[in-house]
Amino acid sequence: MKIYVNKKGLIFIFNLLALIISFTLIIRYNGNLYTGFYEYINKIKVHSRNKMYKKFTEVNKLTYSPAVPKNIPNEKIVYLTFDDGPSSHGTPKILDILKKYDIKATFFVVGKYVEANPDVLRRIHSEGHKIANHSYSHSYNNCTNVEKLTKEIYKTEEVIKKILGIDHKNTVFRFPGGSNGKNKILKNAVEKNGFQYIDWNCLGNDSISKKLLSKEEIINSVKKTSQDLENVTILLHDSNSKTTTFEAVPEIIEYFLERKFKFLTIPDKIE
Ligand SMILES: [Zn+2]
Repeated sequence: MKIYVNKKGLIFIFNLLALIISFTLIIRYNGNLYTGFYEYINKIKVHSRNKMYKKFTEVNKLTYSPAVPKNIPNEKIVYLTFDDGPSSHGTPKILDILKKYDIKATFFVVGKYVEANPDVLRRIHSEGHKIANHSYSHSYNNCTNVEKLTKEIYKTEEVIKKILGIDHKNTVFRFPGGSNGKNKILKNAVEKNGFQYIDWNCLGNDSISKKLLSKEEIINSVKKTSQDLENVTILLHDSNSKTTTFEAVPEIIEYFLERKFKFLTIPDKIE
Protein backbone atom coordinates (compact mmCIF):
# COMPACT_ATOMS: atom_id res chain seq x y z
CA MET A 1 0.00 0.00 0.00
CA LYS A 2 1.36 3.42 -0.95
CA ILE A 3 0.69 6.38 1.32
CA TYR A 4 0.87 9.65 -0.55
CA VAL A 5 1.15 12.82 1.50
CA ASN A 6 1.43 16.08 -0.39
CA LYS A 7 2.93 19.35 0.87
CA LYS A 8 -0.42 20.63 2.15
CA GLY A 9 -0.95 17.37 4.03
CA LEU A 10 2.43 17.67 5.73
CA ILE A 11 1.75 21.26 6.78
CA PHE A 12 -1.61 20.13 8.20
CA ILE A 13 -0.01 17.30 10.22
CA PHE A 14 2.71 19.64 11.52
CA ASN A 15 0.16 22.26 12.60
CA LEU A 16 -1.98 19.62 14.27
CA LEU A 17 1.03 18.33 16.25
CA ALA A 18 2.03 21.85 17.29
CA LEU A 19 -1.53 22.49 18.44
CA ILE A 20 -1.67 19.26 20.49
CA ILE A 21 1.72 20.02 22.15
CA SER A 22 0.67 23.62 22.90
CA PHE A 23 -2.62 22.54 24.46
CA THR A 24 -0.90 19.86 26.55
CA LEU A 25 1.60 22.42 27.87
CA ILE A 26 -1.08 25.03 28.51
CA ILE A 27 -3.15 22.54 30.52
CA ARG A 28 -0.15 21.30 32.51
CA TYR A 29 1.41 24.65 33.31
CA ASN A 30 -1.36 27.01 34.48
CA GLY A 31 -2.38 28.27 31.09
CA ASN A 32 0.90 29.98 30.20
CA LEU A 33 2.42 28.56 27.06
CA TYR A 34 5.77 30.34 27.40
CA THR A 35 6.30 29.25 31.04
CA GLY A 36 5.15 25.75 30.14
CA PHE A 37 7.60 25.44 27.28
CA TYR A 38 10.46 26.95 29.30
CA GLU A 39 9.84 24.64 32.28
CA TYR A 40 9.59 21.63 30.00
CA ILE A 41 12.97 22.35 28.34
CA ASN A 42 14.52 23.01 31.75
CA LYS A 43 13.23 19.69 33.07
CA ILE A 44 14.88 17.85 30.18
CA LYS A 45 18.14 19.74 30.79
CA VAL A 46 18.20 19.02 34.54
CA HIS A 47 17.32 15.38 33.93
CA SER A 48 20.14 14.83 31.44
CA ARG A 49 22.62 16.69 33.64
CA ASN A 50 21.74 14.53 36.67
CA LYS A 51 22.05 11.40 34.57
CA MET A 52 25.48 12.45 33.32
CA TYR A 53 26.59 13.44 36.84
CA LYS A 54 25.54 10.04 38.22
CA LYS A 55 27.19 8.16 35.38
CA PHE A 56 30.51 10.00 35.74
CA THR A 57 30.65 9.49 39.50
CA GLU A 58 29.83 5.81 39.23
CA VAL A 59 32.12 5.07 36.30
CA ASN A 60 35.02 6.77 37.98
CA LYS A 61 34.40 4.96 41.24
CA LEU A 62 33.76 1.48 39.92
CA THR A 63 35.45 0.69 36.65
CA TYR A 64 38.13 3.23 35.90
CA SER A 65 41.65 2.27 36.88
CA PRO A 66 43.51 5.58 36.89
CA ALA A 67 47.22 6.38 36.83
CA VAL A 68 47.82 8.08 40.18
CA PRO A 69 50.75 8.29 42.62
CA LYS A 70 51.22 5.09 44.60
CA ASN A 71 50.07 4.72 48.21
CA ILE A 72 52.49 5.79 50.89
CA PRO A 73 52.24 3.21 53.72
CA ASN A 74 50.64 4.54 56.92
CA GLU A 75 50.07 7.97 55.41
CA LYS A 76 46.89 9.66 54.29
CA ILE A 77 47.79 11.80 51.28
CA VAL A 78 45.76 14.15 49.15
CA TYR A 79 46.95 15.72 45.89
CA LEU A 80 44.89 18.74 44.85
CA THR A 81 45.17 19.18 41.08
CA PHE A 82 43.78 22.03 38.97
CA ASP A 83 43.43 21.66 35.21
CA ASP A 84 43.00 23.93 32.20
CA GLY A 85 44.61 27.13 33.53
CA PRO A 86 46.35 29.37 34.08
CA SER A 87 43.40 31.75 33.90
CA SER A 88 43.39 35.48 34.53
CA HIS A 89 40.83 35.46 37.38
CA GLY A 90 40.21 31.85 38.40
CA THR A 91 43.79 30.80 39.11
CA PRO A 92 44.54 33.83 41.37
CA LYS A 93 41.40 33.02 43.37
CA ILE A 94 42.58 29.44 43.89
CA LEU A 95 46.07 30.68 44.77
CA ASP A 96 44.63 33.03 47.43
CA ILE A 97 42.77 30.11 49.04
CA LEU A 98 45.82 27.85 48.97
CA LYS A 99 47.92 30.62 50.52
CA LYS A 100 45.39 31.08 53.32
CA TYR A 101 45.61 27.39 54.23
CA ASP A 102 49.36 27.17 53.46
CA ILE A 103 48.77 24.25 51.10
CA LYS A 104 50.61 23.35 47.89
CA ALA A 105 48.80 22.03 44.82
CA THR A 106 49.58 20.87 41.29
CA PHE A 107 48.50 22.96 38.30
CA PHE A 108 48.13 21.10 35.00
CA VAL A 109 48.56 24.05 32.66
CA VAL A 110 47.59 24.39 29.00
CA GLY A 111 50.36 25.92 26.84
CA LYS A 112 48.18 28.45 25.02
CA TYR A 113 46.85 29.79 28.33
CA VAL A 114 50.39 29.96 29.73
CA GLU A 115 51.20 32.29 26.83
CA ALA A 116 48.08 34.34 27.55
CA ASN A 117 48.69 34.62 31.33
CA PRO A 118 52.45 34.55 31.98
CA ASP A 119 52.17 36.56 35.21
CA VAL A 120 49.75 34.04 36.67
CA LEU A 121 52.18 31.24 35.81
CA ARG A 122 54.95 33.17 37.57
CA ARG A 123 52.76 33.50 40.64
CA ILE A 124 51.95 29.74 40.71
CA HIS A 125 55.67 29.06 40.56
CA SER A 126 56.79 31.65 43.09
CA GLU A 127 54.25 30.43 45.65
CA GLY A 128 55.75 26.96 45.54
CA HIS A 129 53.15 24.96 43.63
CA LYS A 130 53.92 22.26 41.10
CA ILE A 131 53.47 23.17 37.42
CA ALA A 132 52.66 20.18 35.21
CA ASN A 133 51.83 19.78 31.52
CA HIS A 134 48.28 19.45 30.15
CA SER A 135 49.07 19.84 26.40
CA TYR A 136 49.36 23.03 24.36
CA SER A 137 45.93 23.33 22.76
CA HIS A 138 43.78 20.99 24.89
CA SER A 139 42.40 19.71 21.60
CA TYR A 140 41.50 16.02 21.78
CA ASN A 141 42.25 15.77 18.05
CA ASN A 142 45.83 16.88 18.60
CA CYS A 143 46.36 14.05 21.08
CA THR A 144 45.37 11.19 18.78
CA ASN A 145 48.71 10.43 17.16
CA VAL A 146 52.24 10.23 18.52
CA GLU A 147 53.69 13.03 16.43
CA LYS A 148 50.99 15.55 17.29
CA LEU A 149 50.94 14.52 20.96
CA THR A 150 54.72 14.88 21.30
CA LYS A 151 54.52 18.35 19.76
CA GLU A 152 51.78 19.33 22.21
CA ILE A 153 53.90 18.26 25.18
CA TYR A 154 57.14 19.89 24.05
CA LYS A 155 55.52 23.13 22.92
CA THR A 156 54.01 23.56 26.39
CA GLU A 157 57.32 22.83 28.13
CA GLU A 158 58.93 25.39 25.84
CA VAL A 159 56.47 28.19 26.68
CA ILE A 160 56.80 27.41 30.41
CA LYS A 161 60.61 27.57 30.17
CA LYS A 162 60.43 30.86 28.27
CA ILE A 163 58.68 32.38 31.26
CA LEU A 164 60.27 30.55 34.21
CA GLY A 165 63.74 29.96 32.78
CA ILE A 166 65.33 27.02 31.02
CA ASP A 167 66.17 25.33 34.30
CA HIS A 168 62.53 24.69 35.07
CA LYS A 169 61.94 20.96 35.17
CA ASN A 170 58.78 18.95 34.83
CA THR A 171 58.11 15.33 33.88
CA VAL A 172 54.40 15.16 34.71
CA PHE A 173 51.75 15.18 31.98
CA ARG A 174 48.00 14.79 32.02
CA PHE A 175 46.12 13.89 28.83
CA PRO A 176 43.19 16.21 28.02
CA GLY A 177 40.33 14.03 29.28
CA GLY A 178 42.72 11.70 31.13
CA SER A 179 44.47 8.52 29.95
CA ASN A 180 41.30 6.43 30.13
CA GLY A 181 40.54 5.24 26.59
CA LYS A 182 43.88 6.42 25.15
CA ASN A 183 45.73 3.64 23.35
CA LYS A 184 48.98 2.07 24.49
CA ILE A 185 51.03 3.61 21.68
CA LEU A 186 50.16 7.10 22.92
CA LYS A 187 50.83 6.21 26.56
CA ASN A 188 54.20 4.68 25.61
CA ALA A 189 55.07 7.80 23.61
CA VAL A 190 54.56 9.97 26.70
CA GLU A 191 56.90 7.72 28.71
CA LYS A 192 59.49 7.43 25.94
CA ASN A 193 59.75 11.22 25.98
CA GLY A 194 60.60 11.12 29.68
CA PHE A 195 57.16 12.03 31.02
CA GLN A 196 54.72 10.16 33.21
CA TYR A 197 51.00 10.58 32.71
CA ILE A 198 48.80 11.18 35.72
CA ASP A 199 45.03 10.90 36.08
CA TRP A 200 42.84 11.30 39.16
CA ASN A 201 40.87 8.97 41.44
CA CYS A 202 38.57 11.61 42.86
CA LEU A 203 36.75 14.40 41.09
CA GLY A 204 34.63 17.45 41.65
CA ASN A 205 32.81 16.81 38.37
CA ASP A 206 33.20 20.52 37.65
CA SER A 207 33.82 20.01 33.94
CA ILE A 208 31.13 17.56 32.89
CA SER A 209 28.79 20.09 31.41
CA LYS A 210 28.73 23.73 30.37
CA LYS A 211 26.23 24.40 33.13
CA LEU A 212 27.94 24.97 36.47
CA LEU A 213 27.40 22.42 39.20
CA SER A 214 26.54 23.96 42.55
CA LYS A 215 29.18 24.25 45.26
CA GLU A 216 27.39 21.46 47.18
CA GLU A 217 27.37 19.14 44.16
CA ILE A 218 31.13 19.60 43.73
CA ILE A 219 31.84 18.97 47.43
CA ASN A 220 29.58 15.91 47.45
CA SER A 221 31.25 14.50 44.37
CA VAL A 222 34.67 14.85 46.02
CA LYS A 223 33.42 13.19 49.21
CA LYS A 224 31.74 10.38 47.32
CA THR A 225 34.64 9.56 45.00
CA SER A 226 37.26 9.75 47.77
CA GLN A 227 35.38 7.45 50.13
CA ASP A 228 37.65 4.71 51.57
CA LEU A 229 40.74 6.14 49.82
CA GLU A 230 43.92 7.00 51.73
CA ASN A 231 45.64 8.22 48.59
CA VAL A 232 43.49 10.81 46.90
CA THR A 233 44.22 12.67 43.67
CA ILE A 234 41.47 15.25 43.16
CA LEU A 235 40.60 16.70 39.77
CA LEU A 236 39.30 20.28 39.80
CA HIS A 237 39.45 23.15 37.31
CA ASP A 238 40.72 26.72 37.62
CA SER A 239 39.26 28.28 34.46
CA ASN A 240 37.64 31.71 34.94
CA SER A 241 34.15 30.27 34.51
CA LYS A 242 34.40 27.74 37.39
CA THR A 243 33.05 30.09 40.04
CA THR A 244 31.42 27.35 42.10
CA THR A 245 34.72 25.46 42.24
CA PHE A 246 36.34 28.48 43.90
CA GLU A 247 33.54 28.45 46.48
CA ALA A 248 33.93 24.70 47.06
CA VAL A 249 37.72 24.54 47.50
CA PRO A 250 37.93 25.87 51.11
CA GLU A 251 35.44 23.24 52.32
CA ILE A 252 37.21 20.51 50.36
CA ILE A 253 40.49 21.48 52.02
CA GLU A 254 38.88 21.55 55.47
CA TYR A 255 37.25 18.16 54.87
CA PHE A 256 40.66 16.52 54.31
CA LEU A 257 42.39 18.51 57.06
CA GLU A 258 39.80 17.30 59.55
CA ARG A 259 40.55 13.74 58.47
CA LYS A 260 44.29 14.28 59.05
CA PHE A 261 45.31 14.07 55.40
CA LYS A 262 48.63 15.52 54.29
CA PHE A 263 48.60 17.73 51.16
CA LEU A 264 51.38 17.01 48.66
CA THR A 265 52.17 17.95 45.05
CA ILE A 266 52.44 15.29 42.34
CA PRO A 267 56.00 13.93 42.50
CA ASP A 268 58.27 14.00 39.45
CA LYS A 269 59.06 10.34 39.75
CA ILE A 270 56.46 7.78 40.59
CA GLU A 271 58.07 4.49 41.52
ZN1 LIG B 1 41.60 19.50 30.81
